[in-house]
Amino acid sequence: QMSAESTLLWFRKGLRLHDNPALEAACKNAKHVHPVFIIDPWFMNPDKISGVRIKFLLESLEDLDSSLRGLNSKLHVMLGKPDEVLPKLFEQWNVKRICYEYDTEPYAVSRDERIKELAAEAGVEVISPVSHTLYDIDWLIQKAGGKAPLTYQSFTKLVDQVGPPPAALPPPTALPPPKSDALRLAAEAGLPGDGCVPSLTTLGYSELADGIGFPFTGGETTGLQQMHKHLSRKAWVAKFEKPMTAPTDFDPAATTQLSPYLKFGCISPRLFHSELVSIYRSTPGSSKPPVSLEGQLLWREFFYTTSVGTPNFDKMVGNPICKQIPWDNSPELLTAWEEGRTGFPWIDAAMTQLVTQGWLHHLARHAVACFLTRGDLFCHWERGRDIFDKHLVDSDWALNNANWMWLSASAFFAQYFRVYSPIAFPKKTDPDGKYVKHFLPVLKDMPSKYIYEPWTAPIEVQKKAKCIIGKDYPKPIVDHAMIHKENISRMAAAYNAAKALAGGSGGGGGKGAS
Ligand code: FAD
Repeated sequence: QMSAESTLLWFRKGLRLHDNPALEAACKNAKHVHPVFIIDPWFMNPDKISGVRIKFLLESLEDLDSSLRGLNSKLHVMLGKPDEVLPKLFEQWNVKRICYEYDTEPYAVSRDERIKELAAEAGVEVISPVSHTLYDIDWLIQKAGGKAPLTYQSFTKLVDQVGPPPAALPPPTALPPPKSDALRLAAEAGLPGDGCVPSLTTLGYSELADGIGFPFTGGETTGLQQMHKHLSRKAWVAKFEKPMTAPTDFDPAATTQLSPYLKFGCISPRLFHSELVSIYRSTPGSSKPPVSLEGQLLWREFFYTTSVGTPNFDKMVGNPICKQIPWDNSPELLTAWEEGRTGFPWIDAAMTQLVTQGWLHHLARHAVACFLTRGDLFCHWERGRDIFDKHLVDSDWALNNANWMWLSASAFFAQYFRVYSPIAFPKKTDPDGKYVKHFLPVLKDMPSKYIYEPWTAPIEVQKKAKCIIGKDYPKPIVDHAMIHKENISRMAAAYNAAKALAGGSGGGGGKGAS
């Protein structure tokens, strides 16, 4: 009997059993399937990635392991660099095939290129299907004539042309077991660890304090529960319009909060998408892209497509869609922003939610990103991007970079003169400042009238609220009314310079951004 094959199923994102084509491919004619997750030191740096995200990842791995155990399998968690760990496993487990989900991020692409070489040397077949996005992004770009669309409208046209994405696969009902001595064999090759999901502290992180962390547990089980909870509110789904949701709602949030599950692939975008479409079909007059929930998934897909189709997408310099803007770089202002010490309660509360929960509503992200860049502090979007990347549980290379370019009016969006007011904007949805009072308890007794500009409260009011501005809570670090106008002029100058340059060199530069 041929094909007594041993295969390796390498989980990276895609931490789920449903809609997992790599898993399906690994099981085909296999006698043994070895599910593996490798904890890559690249991703375990407390200076660059917060414990809030790592905790969510570890919960997701625990959940995956427990689901695999339900199918008489298990997750083998390995520690080390994939290009050092995998060749050892190929040999020790006599692996003939490795299957993993295709990943478009630059780090993943170069990592996977190296793994393909190593697999070829070891005579191991590689299968790498697409399931992190609705479509195969490279195929989409081909369909667009080899150039990634640079506007959402042209992107949705493309999607209409190519038809609906592939259907989601059901979860497996059985899995070939791993070799029973797989872990002993791995240890014999000198691989560290006991194969189990490690704790935060063994990875060099401190335990999270009470009340710190994303409000929901990581993993496919909770992700699917949350998704179905939202989908069961059919009227809400059908009416959903993103700009109408309140960034100041926090318990519960006004949007789905599924982003961390989509980031790690605990839920399948294809499954979510098809469920949304079936609700729209049965509900006449449903909302439409770009504001509908389907529209949100298409934003994700659009930004993935431009991120693959644009060189130096994560940089200003050398990035053909990014406006060149002479940002200031004040480390003091940047740190005050990150630590929630700008003196603007709305901005500081949002940054506190970011750092403690690892999540923010889209419009709160708008507010703090605009404030840091073109609105008030004129810091480089790449610095804000890094700080978001550290703290967001859902931090995603394509989406984070794209949205930072958007908010800094560096690409996609050109109305740099439309600046969010850190005072008027939150008032629209939260006139009493409940959000601020929750995340900044020092302001909890400040009267609503002054909650977004407490420096204007008379000193007796500050005393009564037990919050003296300049002592218990900072004074504003900039004069918004003045500085945002100055910054608009600086943006105008940069835009004009880009225009002049484009005129002189016959294109390039800023075209795509307008
Ligand atoms: P919902 O409104 O419920 O939408 C459902 C899903 O659609 C989201 O989970 C997400 O996967 C996708 N989606 C929604 N809005 C966007 C968008 N504007 N762009 C791309 N996809 C979207 N999102 C990330 O997932 N990772 C990031 O690193 C990230 N960085 C951002 C940085 C900035 C400066 C800004 C302004 C936005 C960023 N976003 C990022 C996009 C957006 O804010 C979040 O996806 C959204 O707020 C997540 O909440 P939700 O799951 O409740 O969204």
